[in-house]
Amino acid sequence: MSDCIFCKILRGEIETEFLYRDDICSIFPDANPKANTHLLIVPKKHISTIADMEEGDEKIVGHLVLCAKNIAEKLNLKGYTLQINVGKEGGQEIFHVHIHLMSNFG
Ligand code: 5GP
Ligand code: ZN
Repeated sequence: MSDCIFCKILRGEIETEFLYRDDICSIFPDANPKANTHLLIVPKKHISTIADMEEGDEKIVGHLVLCAKNIAEKLNLKGYTLQINVGKEGGQEIFHVHIHLMSNFG
């Protein structure tokens, strides 16, 4: 079993409020929001960092972007930022790929 925080969240071992779930990804709020709306779009597959993406993972990452767009529409966000931090020097703290969706225009 992975010790990764996001894997634990996805397994239900750490509590969160899921806004969306499907076979490929889940969406839940960031615990330390940096905007009025700050969500994390997280794949079920444990990929540590974008730098470790393998052939085929682009389908997963593309799906994350599509789900970000869908939830932004559902929440009527007029504009938003999608951010992926890559590597420690790139600001990544949790080594399980995720997209930040941040908006102050909800
Ligand atoms: P990173 O810096 O890796 O791109 O972003 C990690 C994000 O995960 C941070 O914005 C941080 O606030 C968030 N985070 C860390 N631990 C938890 C947690 O246990 N639950 C949730 N919902 N978010 C977390
Ligand atoms: Zn993980």
